[in-house]
Formats: sequence, structure tokens, C-alpha cells
Amino acid sequence: MSTDNNDDLRARYEAAFMPNYGVPPLALARGEGATVWDVDGNAYLDLIAGIAVSSLGHGHPALVRAVAEQAAALAHTSNLFLQEPEVRLAETLVELAGGDARVFLTSSGTEANECALKLAIKYGKTHGRSSFVATENGFHGRSMGALSLTGKKAIREPFGPFAIDVRFVPYGDAAALEAAVTEDCAALFLEPTQGEGGVVPPPDGYFAAARRVCDATGALFVADEIQSGIGRTGTWFAFQHDDARPDVLTLAKGLGGGLPVGACLAFGEHGGIFAKGDHGSTYGGNPVAAAAALAVLATVDKDGLLANATRVGDALAAGIAAITHPLLAGVRGRGLWRGVVLTEAAAPAVEAAARAAGFLVNAVQPDVIRLAPPLTLTAEQAQTFVDALPAILDTALDTALHAAKEH
Ligand SMILES: *Cc1c(COP(=O)(O)O)cnc(C)c1O
Repeated sequence: MSTDNNDDLRARYEAAFMPNYGVPPLALARGEGATVWDVDGNAYLDLIAGIAVSSLGHGHPALVRAVAEQAAALAHTSNLFLQEPEVRLAETLVELAGGDARVFLTSSGTEANECALKLAIKYGKTHGRSSFVATENGFHGRSMGALSLTGKKAIREPFGPFAIDVRFVPYGDAAALEAAVTEDCAALFLEPTQGEGGVVPPPDGYFAAARRVCDATGALFVADEIQSGIGRTGTWFAFQHDDARPDVLTLAKGLGGGLPVGACLAFGEHGGIFAKGDHGSTYGGNPVAAAAALAVLATVDKDGLLANATRVGDALAAGIAAITHPLLAGVRGRGLWRGVVLTEAAAPAVEAAARAAGFLVNAVQPDVIRLAPPLTLTAEQAQTFVDALPAILDTALDTALHAAKEH
């Protein structure tokens, strides 16, 4: 086993990898529950969970057992053969989402959205519809189809032009949706809360308004719940808060608890849009990934993690909201998915100060810190962060003032 420390591994990473991520600040070695350790032996409370992925925390016995047993029994079949774990996973997802749906399984979020996009393109072709609507600052993935729907200009525009015509509307504006989603629109792609945009919840009623405008015009309503799904906001899916079921639902991130698995569900007649041969994936439905997802779903249910996300998430937000600090503007979001909003663009400094204090958080926007911890986070663990936050903000403010002086 390598005995390299953080600095050694960072240097090797920088030399071996393409520079698209920059060099991450830490090399992690192991985790247990909501705690991770770096290769130098430092412990951190993990409040980002690999970007809302490690929903059961690290090393959860149910996930470890399911993965180990499935890997030993049968690790892969491809779609040339079926296996029970993928069947059970598809059945369970359909049931949790309210029934009457069909599923395509993937290995990532962007692939789940590619599936949704191909469904929508085929739907559009058979109904004389060719335009798409998505939101400014929205995020749907990095592959070329999903990227064409991604509203963040800095990551989309260098790779255009794209094969589909997308109208971008301001997020949270129901009137703008009504104006943009017309009779020639094949599909609307929408996040229930913008995740990469900075954990931005829309005004109440926005998702229901999206459902209505799609019903009125015949456009497909695609809900991208890749980040919001599987309990993150305290319900299995965020659309359940608004009782506005989409036509197509995409999932990934928290579904596999750390194993790569995504899903695209199409409801009602839309479940039959693809004909034989229309789509495929070698790894999609992989039995080890499916077993992991089944362990996540069973544990969320058995251990009451939906209620835990609401209870601990509310306590975390209330604790942060009660802090008065010149760098802190407020906190938004739902369940264990929160954006800590700063009064200036100091998020990287806050992220670094939090790390130095033993907390992993994410500077998702220049002025927003994202918290998306394991759904198993306890109220006591959340409180340790609330207690540490004023000093973290002090340190970040010092860094920001210092940087301002040097300029
Ligand atoms: C992360 C994310 C994606 C992309 O998922 P990958 O697994 O990174 O491909 C798409 N949509 C949303 C809302 C996401 O948060």
C-alpha cells in the first residue's frame, strides 16, 4: 500500500490527470458514518457526501454487505441477460414514484438525462415538436445532450453549437415558463431546486405551474431529480412536496449511496416511447450497482431517514439562521440540502476555513456554500458545525480582507 501523504498524492494527481478539475485539496483514505479521514490521518465531518451521493454515509454495513455479496455472486451480465437485482430495483423505484412507470437504468446522472432527452426527441418527432425549454443556471450534466440543456453559460458555450434548440428561462419564474413552453415544445427540463446553481429553491407553486403548462401545451415535463431525489429533501422525490408528478423523472447521485447508478423513469404511455433497439448501455442495470441502490432504498425506509433529513436539516438550518455574522446572509433549501449564502464572494475561503476546522463543505457558487451531508447525519453532528461556523466565518473574513489588501 502507498504511504504517500496529501502533498505527494496531489503532485502525482496533477501530473497524471487532465487539468479539468484542478487539483483537489485532499486525498481521502477511508470513511465511517459521516466521518472521513485523509491520507495524513486527519478526520473531517463530511457535510457534502461526495456531492449528495453517500446517502448512507461511509462504510454502512447494509451497503457493504449488499455490494460484497452481489460482487461475489455475479458482478456483471450486460443487457444480454437479466438478473433479479435490476428487476427489483426498477419495481421499487416505480412503486416509490407512485406506480405506472417504466425504467431505464444508467451508471450516471448525465446518462439518465441523455435517456430522457432521447425519449423527448422521439416524442417530439412523432408529435411535430422540436424545441426544448430549460432554465438559466440550471445543471443537467456534461455529456453533449445534457450539456445542451445546461443553463450555465461558462460550461455550455465553449462546446456549442448543439444539435437541439433550447430556450433558457429565468429559474422560478412561472410566467416565463408559460411564455416559453408552447405547442412546438417537445420537453421542459427542470430541477425542483437548482443544485449546482447554489441550492436555489423556486417560489412555492412553481413545480405545480410547470406541470400545468406542460398539460396545457402537451410538452413532456422532465424533472431532473438527480440531486434532489432519494430523500435529500425529506421525501423520496422533491416533486412529492408539490404533488406535481412529472412525465419523466431522472435520478442518480444518492440512489447508489456511492456506487454509480442512475435511472430514468417515464410515466404512463411515455414508458413505451422507446422501441426495441432505441437505446442501451453495457453497464446500465449492473447487478452490483443495483444491489447497492436496493440497500440504500431499504435502509432509508427502515431507518426513517426521510424523517431524519427533515428533522436534522431543519435543526441545521435553524442553527445557522440564528448566527449573526457580517459574512453570513442566510440559509436556504430543504431537508439535508442547504445553501449557506454569504454577503460576498468568499465561498472558497469559507470552504478552506471549514476544512481546516475539520468540516468538508462545498463552495458551489462564489457566494454560496452547499451542505449535502449523509442522510444519516445526527442532530449532534449537525450542531458541531453550527457551533464551529462563527469562527470559520471569522477566518474566511480575515482571508478575504487580507486578499483585498494585497490587491
Ligand atoms: C449531478 C447532476 C447531474 C449530472 O450527474 P453526473 O452523475 O455527474 O453525470 C445532472 N443533473 C443534476 C441536477 C445534477 O445535480
